[in-house]
Amino acid sequence: MPVVEQLVEFVRDHYRTTDFVPLHAPVFRGNEKAYVVETIDSTFVSSVGAFVDRFEKDMAAYTGSSRAVATVNGTAALHVALRLVGVGQGDYVITQPLTFVATCNAIAYCGAEPIFIDVDRHTLGLSPTALEAWLSEHAYRDDAGQCRRREDNRVIRACLPMHTFGHPVDVDGLLRVCHDWKLFMVEDAAESLGSTYRGQHTGTFGDIGTLSFNGNKIITTGGGGMILCDEEAGKRAKHLTTTAKRPHTYEYVHDELAYNYRLPNLNAALGCAQLEQLDAYIADKRQLAASYAACLDGSEYNFFTEPEGCRSNYWLNAVICSDLSQRDQLLQITNERGIMTRPIWQLMNRLPMYSNAPSGELPNALWLEARVVNLPSSIRAHHAGEA
Ligand SMILES: *Cc1c(COP(=O)(O)O)cnc(C)c1O
Repeated sequence: MPVVEQLVEFVRDHYRTTDFVPLHAPVFRGNEKAYVVETIDSTFVSSVGAFVDRFEKDMAAYTGSSRAVATVNGTAALHVALRLVGVGQGDYVITQPLTFVATCNAIAYCGAEPIFIDVDRHTLGLSPTALEAWLSEHAYRDDAGQCRRREDNRVIRACLPMHTFGHPVDVDGLLRVCHDWKLFMVEDAAESLGSTYRGQHTGTFGDIGTLSFNGNKIITTGGGGMILCDEEAGKRAKHLTTTAKRPHTYEYVHDELAYNYRLPNLNAALGCAQLEQLDAYIADKRQLAASYAACLDGSEYNFFTEPEGCRSNYWLNAVICSDLSQRDQLLQITNERGIMTRPIWQLMNRLPMYSNAPSGELPNALWLEARVVNLPSSIRAHHAGEA
């Protein structure tokens, strides 16, 4: 049997269905309903309520972060994270061209501009080697030690790597370059909740890390996000996400321009229930990844596996095809057969709003853009409660 046919059969068998198989659908088999009903019964569905505090504490404990601050979505978490490290008007933030658009939008919301640096093929994330090479050629440190771009002397404030599909970037390599060039590091860990690098959770290495709980992520709150940081930054994050209101029993005093980015209690209730099941979800996903690898073993489809020293949550499974025509063939056959598959994102430097941003050479990003296909990766509904 041709390997794509084998793949289609494997997916149908795994999900025990002859219906359409989506790329990633949420599963609610735990305390979700009970906790959401609890918020409705209590009337505390909105900006005040016990589930927000609990979700933040549980998430900090799970990831090993000193503090976790919930937000209305992952993009808002990224926006505030960049503000926390001082990204402002006219600054540059270095990121990868291979990411979801939210990463770049958060930079633009600060009045800053992205600089695109290539990814590594073995992590799918920002390459420390490419970063170091680009900085050596195009940047310098001024008398105050601040990193600036040679061409226009504008400040390069931070570096924003993303853990693609849950696979950790080369954290040590990036931390070293960021230290040498005095760049803040903010981790976009929207896709990698539960993934570890040398035993430590992604999102806890940089100055700040962010998570997303959108409907397609490994756990969902409907919409939601989280900022992972230290105590000091946490206080500031809470202030910035809650309209900078000074604590007071009855008076409204707001001491700076800030945002209404807080996560409603209703959504946090869903998050608490989902987080209780995260380890079971990861186990299910890792088992699926191993099965995909076995199914495609020896074929011309190269199943992407976690980088060395890492434990990935395998949020979205991916194969690397040998070329563009093979990629298109895989996409066409699987989608025709009701198995949803998808190419990786179009590179950010091609989007109209970022096409003028500075960019290094991007051979690996271009290579991957033509070859990567995501495979169905939902948690099994008939399995999630049992693990
Ligand atoms: C999902 C995601 C985000 C945040 O998305 P929201 O929908 O705003 O929660 C940010 N970056 C990446 C890479 C993502 O995949």
